[in-house]
Amino acid sequence: MKKEDCIFCRIANGEIPSRTLYEDEMFRVILDLSPATRGHALILPKQHADSLYDLPEETAAAAMALAKRIADRMRQRLGCDGLNLVQNNGKTAGQTVPHFHMHVIPRYDGDGQTIGWVPGETVEKELDEVRDILTR
Ligand code: 5GP
Ligand code: ZN
Repeated sequence: MKKEDCIFCRIANGEIPSRTLYEDEMFRVILDLSPATRGHALILPKQHADSLYDLPEETAAAAMALAKRIADRMRQRLGCDGLNLVQNNGKTAGQTVPHFHMHVIPRYDGDGQTIGWVPGETVEKELDEVRDILTR
C-alpha cells in the first residue's frame, strides 16, 4: 500500500524524481538530499510502513541483504574507509520521515561525522532485570 501525502512513498514509486542508485519491485535506493557524507544513501521500500514495527519481516530481511550489496559497491567505487547502517524509528529516536528507511552512510577517515551514543554505566542489576524482561 502507498500512503497519500507520504513523500517517501512518492519518491519510492517514482512520482517525485530522485537520484536513484538502484531499483527493483520492492525497493528504491536514492541519494540523501542532505548527505552526512559523500554517497549517503537511503533504502526505501515501495510499500508504505511507518517504521520497523509495521514492516513485514520479509521486507526487513530483503532490506538488509540490499544494504550489504550497496555497502560492497560503495567500498569498491567510492573507496570509503568504513560504513554505518542507521535506521531510526520514532521521533524520539530521530526519525523525521515516517516511512521506513535505512541510511547507508559511507565513512571516510577524518570526515568529521559522529554517529553514535554516549556509553552508559555498567549496572549489573539493571542488565539482569532488562535481560529478564526481554526473555521471559
Ligand atoms: P530520518 O531522520 O527520518 O532517519 O532521515 C530522513 C532523511 O531523509 C534525512 O537524512 C533527510 O536528509 C532525507 N530526506 C528528507 N527529505 C528528502 C527528500 O525529499 N529527498 C531525499 N533524497 N532525501 C530526503
Ligand atoms: Zn510512505
